[in-house]
Amino acid sequence: MSVYDRDNIFAKILRGEIPCHKVHEDEHSFAFLDIMPRALGHTLVIPKVPARNILDVSPQALCQTILTVQRVSQAAKAAFAADGITLSQFSEQAGGQVVFHLHFHVLPRFDGVALLPAHTNVESNETLAQKAAKLRAALAEIHA
Ligand code: AMP
Repeated sequence: MSVYDRDNIFAKILRGEIPCHKVHEDEHSFAFLDIMPRALGHTLVIPKVPARNILDVSPQALCQTILTVQRVSQAAKAAFAADGITLSQFSEQAGGQVVFHLHFHVLPRFDGVALLPAHTNVESNETLAQKAAKLRAALAEIHA
């Protein structure tokens, strides 16, 4: 069984050691924009507790995280006038996982628009900041 690496990049984001474009935070979960978005508004949702992936996360932390996944999905659909949402979650290297802190990808989808390949589209800070502000506003509106 692989162990949780406390120095993975998302753990550093949670500790505030490296910056991110935050869209949501509560007691149990955290959401921020993916810096290499595969779709407009591509967001990552993570638990605050250390969990490597779907294979080791506690049921409680998983439930708390998936509630945030739903809220972010609803807000993203509204914020970007998306036609749908794709969720993805990769566990272990063979499963496509690159960062070893559990995360769900929330990918707003538009009719006829394919996802960009992973790790190819590096978004500017300015654009990410604009998208994060839109998402935060939509979250506040939906869950006021
Ligand atoms: P994966 O582990 O395959 O699910 O992918 C990890 C995701 O994290 C990729 O989509 C990366 O673009 C994204 N990513 C990597 N570093 C950062 C970062 N510092 N801030 C936001 N997203 C990141």
